[in-house]
Amino acid sequence: MDDSKELNRLNKARALIKNKLDCSGRNGIYDLTGLSGGFEISKNYLNLLETYVGPAIFSEKINELGVKHLSGHEGAHGAACFNRTSSAILSTIMTLSKSFKNVVHFVPERPSHPSIPKSCNIFGMKYFESDLKDEIISKIDNETVTVITGATMDHKITSRDIAEDLINIAKNKGSITFFDDASGARLRKLHNEPPALEMGADLVVTSMDKLMKGPRAGLLAGNKELVDKIYSEGLKFGLEAQSPIMAAVIKAIEDFDIEELKRAFKRAEHIDLNVFNKEGVSYQKTPTGFLIKGISEEQAITSAMNLLENFGIITIAAAGMPGASKTLRIDFCSKDADKISDEYIINAILASNPLKK
Ligand SMILES: *Cc1c(COP(=O)(O)O)cnc(C)c1O
Repeated sequence: MDDSKELNRLNKARALIKNKLDCSGRNGIYDLTGLSGGFEISKNYLNLLETYVGPAIFSEKINELGVKHLSGHEGAHGAACFNRTSSAILSTIMTLSKSFKNVVHFVPERPSHPSIPKSCNIFGMKYFESDLKDEIISKIDNETVTVITGATMDHKITSRDIAEDLINIAKNKGSITFFDDASGARLRKLHNEPPALEMGADLVVTSMDKLMKGPRAGLLAGNKELVDKIYSEGLKFGLEAQSPIMAAVIKAIEDFDIEELKRAFKRAEHIDLNVFNKEGVSYQKTPTGFLIKGISEEQAITSAMNLLENFGIITIAAAGMPGASKTLRIDFCSKDADKISDEYIINAILASNPLKK
């Protein structure tokens, strides 16, 4: 989809959200994207949200909590925070492009998140992606960064076997491994898959906004020296998180509770979607909700706009950033998910006419 069409879609969704807010306030809106951009800040940090004062306290705290959240080792590993996961990725590719020529990228299902190929393009790195492990392995060498996506935007997961193989082969061949674990850091944990750093990845990035109630920031962790380099490159281009975001990231990591995610998983597992079968709507359950299958991108967007306008339900197909997946998807790991019943959601989707051409 071209950029201007994407911006039109985003603007239309924002106008619909504004209209809902004007009519019925925040309670008339149900964000079921799984990305809710929570922004809680500890009271004792509120007077520290300044350019230089805040980071003096927050960067050390983020380093400590971030390494822990991503199961790194204190001492060997470090962590730093960026404006978005995409910003951490851009900063990482920018930094690694000084020492490496190519990027190969294993994704459990194509296509990858656009931030990786687009960043490679900016810094002249040759880019190759595949969902076939052997195809990736054949291209790993000491001039190549090996990127692994832990879980796609549609929640397809890379298994331990594949990840460990790729990491070990990359290590033997002198390549650096960078794990894009935006949602995967938590999603894979729920599937009892090991953390990226524990498997030996050099770097991992995760989103504070995916299966997590934090702001839309990216947390990068891994080899301390590399993280320091990437952070200082990022500083030159304004990619690093500012004080208020850092404070909200700290609270989000402190409040993270995997039991809440497990409850959302249970809801996703037990929701009865049989009525979709009767209506001829095909669907697929995901670990954290479900998605509608067999419809075009256009149908998904139309349906998502109807869901927003008529039922106050926000989905990524309507309000997602340009380039985000156009799958019509409901995510129970959203902070508004507890406010509405399964019936409300199912009836809303049927009324939004996903099958209409
Ligand atoms: C969401 C996501 C990103 C980017 O996150 P932003 O918050 O949009 O910057 C990158 N990679 C993957 C796999 C993602 O799911």
